[in-house]
Amino acid sequence: MKTPVPDYLKHVLSACAANDKGKLADYIPELANVNPDRLGLALSTVDGTIYSAGDDKVEFTMQSLSKPFTYALAIKEIGLIKVLEKVGVEPSGEAFNQISLDKERNIPKNPMINSGAITTHSLIPYKKTVPRAEQIRRFLSALAGRELSFDEQVYQSEIKTAFRNMSIGYMLRTVGVLEDDPKEMVNGYIKQCAIKVTVKDLAVMTSVLANGGIQPKTGKRLLDRSVVRQVLSVMLSCGMYDAAGDWLTTVGIPAKSGVAGGIIGVLPGQVGIAVFSPKIDEHGNSVRGLRIFENLARDMGLHLMEGTPSAQTILQSRYTVGKKNNVVVYELRGVLQFTESEMLLRILQDEPAGKSTIVLDLTNLSLIHDVGVRMLFEGVDRLKQDGYKVVVVDSEGLLDKEQLKGRKREVVTEELEKFLEKFK
Ligand code: GLU
Repeated sequence: MKTPVPDYLKHVLSACAANDKGKLADYIPELANVNPDRLGLALSTVDGTIYSAGDDKVEFTMQSLSKPFTYALAIKEIGLIKVLEKVGVEPSGEAFNQISLDKERNIPKNPMINSGAITTHSLIPYKKTVPRAEQIRRFLSALAGRELSFDEQVYQSEIKTAFRNMSIGYMLRTVGVLEDDPKEMVNGYIKQCAIKVTVKDLAVMTSVLANGGIQPKTGKRLLDRSVVRQVLSVMLSCGMYDAAGDWLTTVGIPAKSGVAGGIIGVLPGQVGIAVFSPKIDEHGNSVRGLRIFENLARDMGLHLMEGTPSAQTILQSRYTVGKKNNVVVYELRGVLQFTESEMLLRILQDEPAGKSTIVLDLTNLSLIHDVGVRMLFEGVDRLKQDGYKVVVVDSEGLLDKEQLKGRKREVVTEELEKFLEKFK
């Protein structure tokens, strides 16, 4: 059996592909030269599995997607207290490039708008030979698990028209938030924005945040849990520019968008998601990217206010019965939502050939989310296509009438032990 997750991602992409609203971010001239039809999506689980679809190998510049990671690096390097002295955590409700400060404290309102991000950039410790942007590139490369590089053309192009960011820099210098040459700081910030990634890179990077700071593949801790919590909290309240409230209610996961068309989202303990589609709306958010996130959040039950803590494993035990040991029983436990369903489908995918019947026992599940039911039966159908007989044991009556529709033959409601007797 092949897990249906990649097909689902393709399906989401094609459902959003026809939307041609929005326009390219032409205030950075080079960004107006990209192919506007590009569309890519990648998703990572907290155990490091990456699924992707569409233009998943196309590189684009991070732009504001670099802000949360640079914020993380600043906290890691100099500590949260020092960072909070220079940059607040309040949503601004203003455009990303607004020339404004928090009225009471005279510092940028948060690190996700340009004034806050330029300030965060200035807080990164550096050496004469290794400038701040390079320090950031190295850190982002460690998160991505490969060497990332700068897009010199995009960098040069933005520098030429960076009048607004320069005025923000001079404002910050005037009030003493920046302590060094503002021009150098703004140039460095723009360079940080020009780091190139693919949606797959971003999925790996967000998986570190979803996984509480540990790189899922290597098991190495790259960020403290407390740093991740701070970054995700600020992403949740301030990540989507002045559309943050809309985002919180419709999608409801910590996220950040960039004007090159990328959006990243992180559901703690569950998944990291990255999309790329260059046409943006008046707030600076990718139009198709927003739709994709809305679809994913709705279909996969990802809204933070809906999610329950994810189980570490869905499988209680796997054993075989029957005279020829050709009946495989999977006893499941815990909660079956997206993450656990994905895990289960992946386990089933590896089921060795040669068995005739697969029994999926739901008795010890405490909850089965809609997405869990859909993914479970999608797996059942695929196993059947592969020639298995499949039986779902639902002795506790977890599945409701609607969910059982058309499934009568595959679902039994008797106790597992009783059901297995006939094979002995
Ligand atoms: N480099 C861009 C700027 O400062 C980033 C903006 C964004 O992605 O929101 O204008």
